[in-house]
Amino acid sequence: MKISDLFGSKKCVLSFEVFPPKKESGVNTIYDTLENLKNLKPDFISVTYGAGGYANGVNLTSEIAARIKRVYNIEPLAHLTCINSGKSDVLNVLSELSSQGISNVLALRGDRVEGAAASDFTYASELIPVIKNAGDFDIAGACYPEGHIESSGLDEDIIHLKNKVDSGLSHLITQLFFDNSLFYSFMEKIQKAGIRAPVQAGIMPVINKKQIERIVSLCGVSLPVKFTKIMNRYEGNPEALRDAGIAYAVEQCVDLITSGTRGLHIYTMNNPYVAQKITESIGSLIRCVNENPEQ
Ligand code: FAD
Repeated sequence: MKISDLFGSKKCVLSFEVFPPKKESGVNTIYDTLENLKNLKPDFISVTYGAGGYANGVNLTSEIAARIKRVYNIEPLAHLTCINSGKSDVLNVLSELSSQGISNVLALRGDRVEGAAASDFTYASELIPVIKNAGDFDIAGACYPEGHIESSGLDEDIIHLKNKVDSGLSHLITQLFFDNSLFYSFMEKIQKAGIRAPVQAGIMPVINKKQIERIVSLCGVSLPVKFTKIMNRYEGNPEALRDAGIAYAVEQCVDLITSGTRGLHIYTMNNPYVAQKITESIGSLIRCVNENPEQ
């Protein structure tokens, strides 16, 4: 199934993101995680691709995505980056995905890995026509409610985003954010720029202070005072921090669903407990908006 069909039939699409283990030997752990995630019945599960995506020459992204489809009967979305690859590498991955019956790809530039060979690609928008020509793929892309960290500002980033969407994207997934008002203002701006593709809000339940500090340093998202107060107050108590992080994410999700957001993409960090708690809290809301889309 194409993910764009899901957006045609549902007001609010729920998905999870998982990442492959660093080594092929860790693959059983991710399968245990998926066993638990499948019971939560997400509309699709995405699998990241990158430095950890290959182990001993095996493309774990493709292998895990294939299992999500075949064993769990859930639609997979395979991430694919291009900045560290040549065109022939990309075509090999696409052929592997195609042979596994995977028809949804998240087209990404990726971040440059030191020492990687020169690439045939500079931006994700250059990867999109290559994917289109390689088979019958539905293509999604990434977007950044606060602007991409390398861009000189949100307005410039949105000009490039429009170009990327026009290259052939059917939907967008945002980078994580902790302040919904930044997402709403981004949505207004992209609508004014003529971007009509449905946008899923990327939500990361934060259960570890070090983890969020690392992420903020990598992607530059802003942290509201309310959020940092929680991190500082409970950092010494893992259980309290986990529960507060989940509660914060649930509050974000409730507001986003109620405000008509077309979908939520939960960065599960391969933690089924967290995904389960969130899904239990918002499942009835999503069912309600999908059953009564006009209200
Ligand atoms: P692009 O859309 O190419 O944009 C990158 C930068 O270039 C932006 O600043 C943009 O404004 C600018 N730009 C674009 N076009 C032009 C142009 N024509 N001229 C000048 N500037 C331009 N990384 C991984 O390695 N693996 C993953 O699996 C992965 N999954 C992700 C999933 C999501 C939902 C998100 C939001 C990010 C993910 N990332 C992943 C991170 C992503 O690879 C990085 O954020 C990367 O730095 C940008 O990727 P992009 O596809 O958004 O790039």
